[in-house]
Amino acid sequence: MRTIAIIGGGFSGTMTAVNLARFSEEPLKIIMINTKRPFGRGTAYGTARREHLLNVAARNMSAFPDFPNHFVDWLRTRSDFDHVSDQELREMFIPRAIYGDYIRLIAEMHLRPVHSRFQLQFELIEDEATDIELENTESVRIVLNNQGSISANAVLLATGNQPPAALPSASPLAFDLRYCADPWDTSFFERLPPHGSEIVILGTGLTMVDVIVTMDAIGWRGKVTAISRNGMLPQSHFRGIAYPDYLPVGMDALHLDKLVQVVEENCQRLVRMSQNPAIAIDKLRPHTQRLWQGLSIEDKKDFLSKYGARWNVTRHRIAQSIHQKVTDRLDEGMLQVIPGTIESLVTTENSINVRYRDQLGNEGQLSGDFVVNCTGPQSRFSRSNSSLYRNLISNQIISLDDMDMGIRIDDDFAVLNDVEEPVGNLYAIGPPLKGTLWETTAVPELRGQAMRVAQIMLNQMPSLPEEEYLIEYCI
Ligand SMILES: Cc1cc2nc3c(=O)[nH]c(=O)nc-3n(C[C@H](O)[C@H](O)[C@H](O)COP(=O)(O)OP(=O)(O)OC[C@H]3O[C@@H](n4cnc5c(N)ncnc54)[C@H](O)[C@@H]3O)c2cc1C
Repeated sequence: MRTIAIIGGGFSGTMTAVNLARFSEEPLKIIMINTKRPFGRGTAYGTARREHLLNVAARNMSAFPDFPNHFVDWLRTRSDFDHVSDQELREMFIPRAIYGDYIRLIAEMHLRPVHSRFQLQFELIEDEATDIELENTESVRIVLNNQGSISANAVLLATGNQPPAALPSASPLAFDLRYCADPWDTSFFERLPPHGSEIVILGTGLTMVDVIVTMDAIGWRGKVTAISRNGMLPQSHFRGIAYPDYLPVGMDALHLDKLVQVVEENCQRLVRMSQNPAIAIDKLRPHTQRLWQGLSIEDKKDFLSKYGARWNVTRHRIAQSIHQKVTDRLDEGMLQVIPGTIESLVTTENSINVRYRDQLGNEGQLSGDFVVNCTGPQSRFSRSNSSLYRNLISNQIISLDDMDMGIRIDDDFAVLNDVEEPVGNLYAIGPPLKGTLWETTAVPELRGQAMRVAQIMLNQMPSLPEEEYLIEYCI
């Protein structure tokens, strides 16, 4: 029986396993290796806290590219949404824990079916994959941290985002109970200092927002200071207007200058219409991967340094209700956001001090009774602290993309080695493709990748729906 191993059991890995089960016409064994985050839920949907909402409306969160209404239809099976009209339900930002239930249910139905039309074996191994050895054209060996090794005919890397980078610190922080290195493990809320204390949050993005709304939900009162290089907060979702596609024909290979000019013109036009200029960014969504791939390396670097932060806050928006909570905290003076580059952390008996440099280059210091690292995933892959990627890089099994943001793949998700050849039977999807595709972190992209790579690994012709049809529900 053919064996396919998947490393990583978040949305990407789980939905690939589901699609393998959906499309395989022969007996198949799927081995999923997953660590740290709960199987099926992964980092994003592993939270049990109800105040953590999806940042994409329900209508866009189907796990299947070929069934656009699947998530909304599933929500309709739950009594909690009986009082909500269909139109309202489609626009709702649902708790991420419920989305995790949805993916787990899909996984149970497809991977442990009551009746199977063919022989499917599914095995979940809770362990960390630390290395991969290519045995021959038909066999790949995966080395596990605690449970020896397993062999498979093909392997998918679906490892999600890298863990956050360690911050420079004069003393070890790992065992300091006043420091949280992993904000997605929400057990740290039990260690918060008493009301009236001071908390410093490193980072001002979506993870910081999660922390603020949970403080609000548990009624923690005290002073919070959040710091990031640009000090920008995520923007709120809003009800937009129908706006025409504005990219010129043949837009695939636009230079950055031209692209910026076209986008700016449309932002200004929207402002003149008293509309939110973010609509111009939303209209790029279906084309973003192609636009990114058409840019030169210099243009990509320029884009990141000049527009990266603005892009992130405009593109990755949050539900209005969540935005309101953050704004309320700011208005009450309980949350302060400052721009600054974090230089080091220093622990003392009474506090953890965060040393930073402000935008004028002056030194500053924040003192926290508790510090939470919300700086987000390590962005440079060559500095990955994953044993698996360190080994794959040093053994030249994978190669880094030109931006050092992830790994190189071909158009069929086959991993490329450092001489740009596909590595036999090794595939990758999801956030590790960021340098190649840029937009590859959210469900609207990942559901398509999971279906396509499953069909490719089964040696079938990919059968994604027509692109026009997809575009309608991916914004
Ligand atoms: C807090 C948060 C909220 C988000 N909200 C949304 C949203 O509302 N809508 C949306 O579309 N997107 C959202 N996203 C984007 C999200 O990244 C994707 O939707 C999706 O969950 C990514 O899934 P993944 O499987 O690629 O990665 P992950 O969910 O990170 O899963 C990867 C899994 O692989 C495991 N793993 C990694 N390395 C190894 C190894 N060597 N051995 C074994 N296991 C390994 C990890 O521990 C983890 O369990 C959010 C992301 C975050 C972090």
